[in-house]
Amino acid sequence: LGFIDSHTHAYLRGSEDLQLMASAGVEGLVLCSYFPIKPTGPSTLIDLYRWLMEEEPLRMEKYGLKSVAAVGIHPRSIPTRGVSKVMACLGTIFESGQASVLGEVGLESGDKHEEEVFFAQLQIAAERSLAVIIHTPRENKSIILEKTIALLEKSQVDMHRIILDHLTPELVPRARSLGVTAGITVQPGKTSAEEVGEILLKNGPEGLVVNSDLGNVSSNPLALPQVARYLDSNGFTRQEIEMVTRTNIRSIIAFQ
Ligand SMILES: [Zn+2]
Repeated sequence: LGFIDSHTHAYLRGSEDLQLMASAGVEGLVLCSYFPIKPTGPSTLIDLYRWLMEEEPLRMEKYGLKSVAAVGIHPRSIPTRGVSKVMACLGTIFESGQASVLGEVGLESGDKHEEEVFFAQLQIAAERSLAVIIHTPRENKSIILEKTIALLEKSQVDMHRIILDHLTPELVPRARSLGVTAGITVQPGKTSAEEVGEILLKNGPEGLVVNSDLGNVSSNPLALPQVARYLDSNGFTRQEIEMVTRTNIRSIIAFQ
């Protein structure tokens, strides 16, 4: 036991879910910044970061969960004005050590403005060797993934600290060939526990992390315990299960 859910928006869920996770053996989770509507100004995200860094860890602790906040501008949460103010705020947060993970960031439609906002954040990450959690969209996933990779290469971020998330099974080898970690989201309509098993058989457990992307859309607080149970009853070793549900993410992101 002792699962670490590498990508959640658990701040959008009630405490009943946190209790459920803790009682099923979830030990920690990453809280990724995301705001479900396009903010009209910079203070929305600046306050969101305060919420995730200052208040949520205390709420999580009450249920015995460790948490790490990832702050950044999600491509669907780019404010209509004041992006530079949010960027300056991120600079201050990372400089002061209040957070050390950038996320979730990336491209959704992949337009020019999204690319600029994403690239500016990658440069902050490259300067400080931050861990980065990167979103990939449902639509045009492989095309947008290639655009994302081109920007990663241009920014000179440390590939060993990058998680390319919400990948489909076919895209895992592409991510692994770059030395980045492949994130698999087990969620209704995304990847299933059976598919995680298939990915493991084909690619092995190195550089692979499983998460729930728990948030305001249909998602399962028990994704990790259920994947572990499925893998265990289908002949995968304890070590393989631990790597994809706990140790791989801990080698990129430090938990207390
Ligand atoms: Zn997410």
